[in-house]
Amino acid sequence: MKQQKGSGKKEEGETMEVGLLHELFPAMVELRRHLHRHPELSFREEETSAHIAERLQELGIEVSVNVGGYGVVGKIYGGLPGKTVALRADMDALPIQDEKTCDYASEQPGVMHACGHDGHTATLLAVGEYFAKTREQLRGEIRLLFQPAEEVCPGGATSMIAAGALDGVDVIYGVHLWTPLPVGTVASRPGALMASTDEFFIEMQGQGGHGGMPHKTVDSVVAASALVLQLQSVVSRSVDPLDPAVVTIGAIQGGTAQNIIADRCKLSGTVRCFEEGTRALIRQRIHALTEGTAQAYGAEAIINYMPGYPSLINHEREYERFMEAAPEVFGLHAELSTPIMPAEDFAYYVQKVPGCFMLVGAGNGQNAVYPHHHPKFDIDEQAMLHAAGLLIAMAESYSAEHA
Ligand SMILES: [Zn+2]
Ligand SMILES: [Zn+2]
Repeated sequence: MKQQKGSGKKEEGETMEVGLLHELFPAMVELRRHLHRHPELSFREEETSAHIAERLQELGIEVSVNVGGYGVVGKIYGGLPGKTVALRADMDALPIQDEKTCDYASEQPGVMHACGHDGHTATLLAVGEYFAKTREQLRGEIRLLFQPAEEVCPGGATSMIAAGALDGVDVIYGVHLWTPLPVGTVASRPGALMASTDEFFIEMQGQGGHGGMPHKTVDSVVAASALVLQLQSVVSRSVDPLDPAVVTIGAIQGGTAQNIIADRCKLSGTVRCFEEGTRALIRQRIHALTEGTAQAYGAEAIINYMPGYPSLINHEREYERFMEAAPEVFGLHAELSTPIMPAEDFAYYVQKVPGCFMLVGAGNGQNAVYPHHHPKFDIDEQAMLHAAGLLIAMAESYSAEHA
């Protein structure tokens, strides 16, 4: 790729048209800010989805709507034969009150794009426009996947896959704008990049009674408290110390008053890890400790264990492609990421076809300093240009290699 700002024409041997990408940037920012003002929660992305479908149609891109919910699929057919490359963006926001004071802050009370999915959507639309305008030189097909509901299990990826969004796709790429990384840096990892996530809900059933006569009761609060401590041993005593894992009890609820022994106490928590074997082991240990602890205290436990997203496993060759391609895109600094504990339903796509998920630095020490899911979350918008360039470079590299 040549860094020719403003050059309208593609030269012999040149791949990405950087000038065109720069021309698309103001519209990218405008769309991102529009979506930021009008965020929609997971599984309710009706307006966002309709807006994207309309824009794709205006660009002359073949569009399918309501793909596995509010999913939108755009297909761009190149002038040359080749493979099918899918690129994915998620579209949903979070139930958070926006505390920013900028003019593009959320106008929807209690709902906010606090993870950057507005930026992903705007980026992918610009990438679509880029390929629509250069389609004579394009090999094969570019498939744009605008996915609903990444933030809430079971997520939108599985339903889009079930609806055929991946049919005929040879490879898939996706990005996450990432404020913990400075703008200008991108990162990924071969193998496990992001954790699997499971949730569990436990109800400890005892026998209630008078706070002054505990011997006539089975105290569910005491049994549940013992279980919280027992569960701390799962990672520390059962999981290989070189294999990262987390078991968190996030909530405990029981009882109504200081002088009543509660007959029931509820616990809920989350499990994060990277290996499927570890995931199964943790689930088995939670069951065993819950049943054993309940029995030891004369209580009964009901466990509702809900598997969530699997670990996101990048393909080795596609990770290598990322390391080769990224420095060619605006001179981005590409680095090996450590595994990270948040989960991503992009994991389901790379279970089906080869691909790579990449983190694009969006932090800048000014407005974009807050972590994801924070009420003041913001991105450095320049990161969208980097993300678009990276997605285009990955698609072009794959298509050229498999021409
Ligand atoms: Zn998120
Ligand atoms: Zn996210």
